[in-house]
Amino acid sequence: MPSITLADLLERNKVYAQNHQGFPTIAEALAAGGVFETTLVLTCVDFRVNPDKFLQTQPQDQILVARTPAGRVDAAFVQEVMLFEAFLGLKSVVVIHHTGNYFKNDEIRKFHKDRLPDHEEIDHMVFGAFDNLEQSVRDDVHILKTSPYIPKKLADNTYGFVYDIHSGLLTAVD
Ligand SMILES: [Zn+2]
Repeated sequence: MPSITLADLLERNKVYAQNHQGFPTIAEALAAGGVFETTLVLTCVDFRVNPDKFLQTQPQDQILVARTPAGRVDAAFVQEVMLFEAFLGLKSVVVIHHTGNYFKNDEIRKFHKDRLPDHEEIDHMVFGAFDNLEQSVRDDVHILKTSPYIPKKLADNTYGFVYDIHSGLLTAVD
């Protein structure tokens, strides 16, 4: 498989910018009577999992995308929800995990413990891997729905899905 270089990416960016349509700032949009009613999508960092493609998003859809390894909800993501709830207003949060997620927490720990044997805290690090795909979605949605920091109206509009990397389809997880 050919590997792309940073120089290639920068060259692509120059081509892209020739047809880029600029955006107003948030302040400009508000001054012009703009209303923000955003949806925050959380999914994996994986290059096979691109929510802007599989949800066919447009800027006017106001879809915010957050990405963590495996799309797991962590403390930083809860703070991200708090940030956007205060800053732009959130109408929904959507957690999407995907099929074909391969890594194991203990293998990641071993890799780093082999290089850094004195760092025992690595034994307690969690890197987001899960054993059961649907259950991991349920667990993460549960964290958000029961968080004391998330308003009930938003918790009631928090949903979980599995994305199938073969079919490209989303399936709701209840
Ligand atoms: Zn992944």
